Amino acid sequence: MLLLHYTGMDSAEAALDWLTREESGVSCHYLVDAEGRIAQMVPESERAWHAGQSLWQGETDINSCSIGIEIHNPGHDFDYPDFPDAEMRAVEALCRDILSRHAIPPHRVLAHSDVAPGRKRDPGEKFDWQRLARAGIGLWVPPAPIGEDQGLGPGDEGAMVAALQRDLLDYGYGVEVTTTYGTGLEKVIAAFQRHFRPARIDGRADVSTRETLARLLAARAGSIAQV
Ligand SMILES: [Zn+2]
Repeated sequence: MLLLHYTGMDSAEAALDWLTREESGVSCHYLVDAEGRIAQMVPESERAWHAGQSLWQGETDINSCSIGIEIHNPGHDFDYPDFPDAEMRAVEALCRDILSRHAIPPHRVLAHSDVAPGRKRDPGEKFDWQRLARAGIGLWVPPAPIGEDQGLGPGDEGAMVAALQRDLLDYGYGVEVTTTYGTGLEKVIAAFQRHFRPARIDGRADVSTRETLARLLAARAGSIAQV
């Protein structure tokens, strides 16, 4: 898996300092700063501590099966600025380089928020996944347009909720199929929207969100068939 993060710190220098301190308990394979400079922190063959408590496709030890890239951005707690073009260019080049050396399928290029919904929001809705996908990195589909509908939300129950839970679980998200739309599902939907339907992140499964998920599952089936 290739897992993308933002640093969530004031400066890339502070992140570099923190990520190299033993007492921080965190590390990553690469750090990219706003100017597009790339620092390798941990060899790709070694395990880094970047995912924390996470879950994807039933796997909880994400650190043991992933390469982690920290992309400098102060994050949601500090005005969440745009990712500069120089930084995105470097991320793109670095990802392509990593993917040329490891057999990582497109649907396993993920956001930290995908594997830790509710707990993590990085790299967030301003991160340009579409740009990466155009460069052959990750799986991304054009989001279905947002309509007038309210969609499913907390408190809803029934077969449609169960179908939604099954689809999310099928894609890899850590959801239980319970037929009840609880706060866990709301967080997973918000994480899904942050990555795949960033125009509105409200944790509600409207038609646009559900249709985007359906498109994504179809695209994944297609990409697996190609391999
Ligand atoms: Zn992170």
